[in-house]
Amino acid sequence: MSIFEKWGVHPIINVSGPVTRLGGAPMPESVLEAFCQAARESAPLDQLQGAASLAIAEATRAEAGLVTCGASGALMLGAAAILAGDDIGRMERLPLSESFPNEFVVAREQRNPYDHAVRAAGVRFVEVGFHEPVAGSGVRRAESWEYEVEFGPRTAGVFYVLGHNSQPSLNEVVAVAHSQGLPVLVDAAGEVPPHSNLRSILTTGADLVAFSGGKGIRGPQSTGILCGRRDLIASAALQMLDMDDHQELWEPPEHLIDPSRFKRIPRQGIGRALKVSKEQIVALLTALELFLSGAYDQELVAMCHHLERVAASLNGLPAQCRLLAPKEGGVLPSLEITLDEVQLGRSALEICRSLRRGIPSIQVGHGLLHEGKLTVNPMHLNEAHTEILIRRFREELTRTCI
Ligand SMILES: *Cc1c(COP(=O)(O)O)cnc(C)c1O
Repeated sequence: MSIFEKWGVHPIINVSGPVTRLGGAPMPESVLEAFCQAARESAPLDQLQGAASLAIAEATRAEAGLVTCGASGALMLGAAAILAGDDIGRMERLPLSESFPNEFVVAREQRNPYDHAVRAAGVRFVEVGFHEPVAGSGVRRAESWEYEVEFGPRTAGVFYVLGHNSQPSLNEVVAVAHSQGLPVLVDAAGEVPPHSNLRSILTTGADLVAFSGGKGIRGPQSTGILCGRRDLIASAALQMLDMDDHQELWEPPEHLIDPSRFKRIPRQGIGRALKVSKEQIVALLTALELFLSGAYDQELVAMCHHLERVAASLNGLPAQCRLLAPKEGGVLPSLEITLDEVQLGRSALEICRSLRRGIPSIQVGHGLLHEGKLTVNPMHLNEAHTEILIRRFREELTRTCI
C-alpha cells in the first residue's frame, strides 16, 4: 500500500515530468539514503552551507553558492542580496525598500508568475521592450539598448529569465548592465539538463544564477541553487541563515561569510522564511554529484524503450506519435501524441481530464493540449507504469464519442 493511502490520497502515474504540482522528480536511492543519514545527526547549518558553497562552486565554476528553498527561494534571496548588499540596516528593512535603489529592469516579455519571488524581496520591476510578433505589429522583440535607457539612480539591478528563446541574449544584457555597474540576476530554474548549463550560463558574466534542485538534478523537490558572486552569496546567506547567536561567538565559514565585513550581526532576515534543512542540503549535494557524474544518462535507453512501446501500441488508433530523441547532457526523450480530435469526437483536453480521473490517475504533459497534443515525459516511467499507460491510452482512444 502506498504511504499516501494512509491519509486517503492515491498515488498517480506521472508522465508530466518533474513538475512541482505533482511532487517533482524521483529521488535516486542514494539521495534518499543521504537524506536519512543526515537526519540522524546534528550539524551547524552555516558550516553545511559553507561546504555546499565549495561543492556548488566546483560544479558551476561560480565564486560561491548556496542551497536554497527551490529556485523561487534562490530568486527571492538573490534579489534581497542585490537590494541590501552588506548593509544590515537594509537587511532589517526588507521587503520595504523605498529608501534605497529598488528597481530591477526586465524585458516585458520575460515577466512570468515565478517573478513574484523577486517582487516579494522588495523589488519593483521596470519593464522594457515589446514582443512585436505576438501582436503581428512588427518583427522585433526586446533589445538591449532599451535596458540601458531605463537605468537611473533608482536602478538596483537587472532580472533575466533564461529559456531556449530568450531575447536579447544574456551576453548582451550582461554587457549593458555591467557597463553601468549593475548586477544581473538570472532565473535558469529549468535549464538543467543539459549539465553544461551549470557552467555556461555563468560564463556570460551573470552575477547570480538560480537553478531548481528538484527538477532535472533530482534532489529534494523543495531545494534550489543560488550561485555567483561571493559578496552577493554572502549577503544571501546572512539573510537566510538562522542568526540566533552572540556576536562574540558567531564564527561562520569565512569563505561563505567574511565576518570582518560586518560590524554587527544582523537579526533574522527576509530569507529566514525560506529555510533549508540539513537533510535537504546533503541530499541536494548528493544529487548534484550524481547528475554531474552522468549517472542519469544510463537510464535513457530504458526511457526510450518505454516510449517506443507506448507509441507502437497506439498504431492504427486515431493518433500520431512522434518520439523526440534524448539530447546531449542528459536531456530526456519524450513522446508527443497528436490526437485526431475529429475522428475521436473528443478534445485533447477531455482525454487529459479522463486520464486524470481514471484509476489509477494518469497525469500527462498538458502544455500542448491546445494543439490537440498529449505529451509523455518518461522521468518517472517504469515497466509496470508503462503497461498501465498503454492500457489506459488504448481505452481512451478506442472509446467513441458519448
Ligand atoms: C520551476 C521554475 C521556477 C521555480 O522553481 P522551484 O525550484 O520550483 O522553486 C522558477 N522559474 C522557472 C522559469 C521555472 O521553470
